[in-house]
Amino acid sequence: MRVQDALDILKSTFGYREFRHHQAEIVETLVNGRDALVLMPTGGGKSLCYQIPAMLRDGVGIVVSPLIALMQDQVEALGQLDIRAAFANSSMDVRAQRQVENALLAGDLDLLYIAPERLLKEHTLNLLSRSQLALFAIDEAHCVSQWGHDFRREYQQLSVLHQRFPGIPRIALTATADARTRKEIVTQLDLRDAAVFVNSFDRPNILYTINEGQNARDRLWRFIELEHVNDAGIIYCLSRKKVQAVAAWLSAKGRTALPYHAGLSDETRRLHLQRFLYEDGVIIVATIAFGMGIDKPDVRFVAHLNLPKSIEAYYQETGRAGRDGQPANAWMAYGLQDVILLRQMSQESDADEQHKRVTWSKLEALLGLCEQTSCRRQALLSYFGEQLDAPCGNCDNCLDPPETWDGTEAAQKVLSCVYRAGQRFGVNYIIDLLTGKPDERILRNRHDGLSTFGIGTGHTAAEWRSIFRQLVAQGYLVSDMVGHGTLRLTEKARPLLRGEHAMQMRRQRKPLKTKESKTVSFAALSGVDSQLFEKLRAHRSQLAHQRAIPPYIIFHDKTLHEMAQQRPRNENDLRAITGVGEKKLIEYGAGFLHIVEEFVTSLNVPES
Ligand code: ADP
Ligand code: ZN
Repeated sequence: MRVQDALDILKSTFGYREFRHHQAEIVETLVNGRDALVLMPTGGGKSLCYQIPAMLRDGVGIVVSPLIALMQDQVEALGQLDIRAAFANSSMDVRAQRQVENALLAGDLDLLYIAPERLLKEHTLNLLSRSQLALFAIDEAHCVSQWGHDFRREYQQLSVLHQRFPGIPRIALTATADARTRKEIVTQLDLRDAAVFVNSFDRPNILYTINEGQNARDRLWRFIELEHVNDAGIIYCLSRKKVQAVAAWLSAKGRTALPYHAGLSDETRRLHLQRFLYEDGVIIVATIAFGMGIDKPDVRFVAHLNLPKSIEAYYQETGRAGRDGQPANAWMAYGLQDVILLRQMSQESDADEQHKRVTWSKLEALLGLCEQTSCRRQALLSYFGEQLDAPCGNCDNCLDPPETWDGTEAAQKVLSCVYRAGQRFGVNYIIDLLTGKPDERILRNRHDGLSTFGIGTGHTAAEWRSIFRQLVAQGYLVSDMVGHGTLRLTEKARPLLRGEHAMQMRRQRKPLKTKESKTVSFAALSGVDSQLFEKLRAHRSQLAHQRAIPPYIIFHDKTLHEMAQQRPRNENDLRAITGVGEKKLIEYGAGFLHIVEEFVTSLNVPES
């Protein structure tokens, strides 16, 4: 293969200047007829790895994908680039199916997307054996893993492709990082001779922020108001009730915020998803039921109003932000109640002991990440076995290092107070004790006579809650499942009480003040450029609306961003902009050039 051919397609069809990461090598591997296994994070650019070889090799590239909802979107996007693509799934009527089959047999397709259950049908396999095939791409390859959250039985039968079509190269792709899954993919799909490409799982464009937090909603609002006035985002909550409440609250504040959870009708969910994809600036408030298969590239923030279950879940959920590689925020607020609740859930479940231990240690790792005072990204990557040598400079702890203080004495006060009161009470009661509040229950229990009554007047109740949170998070205190959150000391508490250990605590961060925005986002456009950006965005919206396609299928934000800065004056200028290939130049070029010209002229007209 000539590398130049691949580069030509990259430029003229996709409008991109150069390959990223291992893309060039992967393309070359496939074009030369060898299998490949590709591990790359979300947004890394996996699709090009099989799309370009499918165009370079004779015949059609067959793409196996579990996400029927996405196929249409992708085929639409490919059509915009003049690539001949189709999909085959169960939602089609017989006539449409015939049409696709005929195109396949006639060699009129570059790419065909098929759901695994359909591919495995004898009818389909038979059709394929009568067609010329360029390659097989197995997307979301981690679905073969029984241990993963996306297990699909049919995926395990995909080794049949190798048996029936031994000469056709296969590429398996996934954004799941761990070693066990990787091994399973290799064995289940029979990929022993495949070239393996492992990318860093870092998502450098995502800024991680974890708030310890009272007033989570106020903080969230300030964050949205400050950094994401016009942006699309996802907000995760634990319960359906909270989802509804948060969506209503944001709507009252004037944002388009739509709820999404398993309790809503299919129709409502479909509609909300549709609006999220087709309109600019929609916020989805969701339980974790929302996410798998959301391929929207311009989600600018993902916020958590509750703790996710594990670091894996956190990485995956936050990973839905910034697929287009532009700056994005992962923002979380979590408090004492979250910690207590999750701790309880991990004890309570009726899973076997080993499973409980696993859940527990995953939670432990997540809490570690939350309470951590050094770089979050380093910790996150190290959890996935990757090492980042220097602090990242793009997380809250790097940008605004947390203050710590010696909390040993405060911790001792809490622990002895819990102990003296007989380990039968919850947080609020103990805080009342510490701060010497003689309420009814305390008087009834005669706890105003305890030596620890009122020894904690040096901190406010809010400060005590933060101290409790850190003690529970770090496992000095556990809250009991049966006793409605009554607190108990653990073994770990003893050396701390005896003064053999010291404990550093984080000081509560103050919420951001206006003007303190940290993200280098589109706001980084100078005032004039951002006016033009908004004009271009409005034009794109209009085009998308006319064609009933999502705006990002016309151009990504990144493309509009470059247009706003470079102000192209003719087709050649436009060609130099990322994401402008020949087909889109013809289809949309004139319209966007016109907007730019109009804008430039308006700038030059002196105001009277
Ligand atoms: P993944 O499937 O790995 O999540 P995609 O294939 O959807 O990622 O690519 C993510 C984004 O990056 C897309 O908008 C894609 O067009 C863009 N992209 C991919 N490769 C390149 C490249 N070489 N140069 C510029 N943009 C790219
Ligand atoms: Zn950092």
